[in-house]
Amino acid sequence: MTTLLPTSTAGSLPKPSWLAQPETLWSPWKLQGDELTSGKRDALALALQQQQQAGIDIVSDGEQSRQHFVTSFIEHLNGVDFVNRKTVRIRNRYDASVPTVVGPVSRQKPVFVEDATFLRRQTTQPIKWALPGPMTMIDTLYDGYYQSREKLAWEFAKILNQEAKELVAAGVDIIQFDEPAFNVFFDEVNDWGIACLERAIEGLNCETAVHICYGYGIKANTDWKQTLGSEWRQYEQIFPKLQQSNIDIISLECHNSRVPLELLALIRGKKVMVGAIDVATDTIETPDEVAATLRKALQYVDADKLYPCTNCGMAPLARHIANGKLQALTAGAAIVRQELQRR
Ligand SMILES: [Zn+2]
Repeated sequence: MTTLLPTSTAGSLPKPSWLAQPETLWSPWKLQGDELTSGKRDALALALQQQQQAGIDIVSDGEQSRQHFVTSFIEHLNGVDFVNRKTVRIRNRYDASVPTVVGPVSRQKPVFVEDATFLRRQTTQPIKWALPGPMTMIDTLYDGYYQSREKLAWEFAKILNQEAKELVAAGVDIIQFDEPAFNVFFDEVNDWGIACLERAIEGLNCETAVHICYGYGIKANTDWKQTLGSEWRQYEQIFPKLQQSNIDIISLECHNSRVPLELLALIRGKKVMVGAIDVATDTIETPDEVAATLRKALQYVDADKLYPCTNCGMAPLARHIANGKLQALTAGAAIVRQELQRR
């Protein structure tokens, strides 16, 4: 990136009301068949326009063609039964009915490559594409076949690598893996989670990112945050090993969060997508609030490595609120960019 402080979002944006119920996470589609296919495309074009009008530098598909950030990928794979579901505890936090792994997992055909090609044709701006990370994938399934979280994660890493390579060939500039599970299973992250992530990015001819947040603003997550005490030091457990990894960019929750920003010093040298927008509240940040968070992060992140971003996805927010937050992000980044250029 030649722009200083290039802005982006963590991933999802609200969907239009004709495509899915607004302000609802994981809301079912309102269209079917060909209408759904073309509806998703139209929504993708709108999501791009929304980002462009707000002045976002690195754009995405706004995850308009996904109902869920993990299962919408998994449902395209072989070896997973979506009918016979089991209830499991997600990230040690809440119970959910999830698909079952019943045989060897494999990818028969590309999942998001057509969408990425479509987005590439609409813009010359850098594109970031989000995929679920291997550890978060296994945590969103019941494994009735491999009987080993690690083994299944390695299989998913291989599949993600195939998909990522094709996304890069379609013109994606940054591949991001969403790994909220990294904030929970520290021993596994250090034993094999980061290694699996490195398998997923093997041979990729683009920049790579990992997004590690405290989740969407749903009740299970906000309740969990209440139990974490006055300082959230989860990142401290995984940063030393991530700093040593081949991942280029680390995307983090920072604004309105109890993460002590001095922990960012542990990943010195990496590019950091600093979450400067809280996705768990309808209150729109002022540009000055965004700027304040970015200035704090600048104490630990070199200016040429700081990427202003949102804490997480904005899918469950009302559209006008998400728009306001995107505009606040660009305005806040502009304030700090000017300060840096004046120096
Ligand atoms: Zn997130």
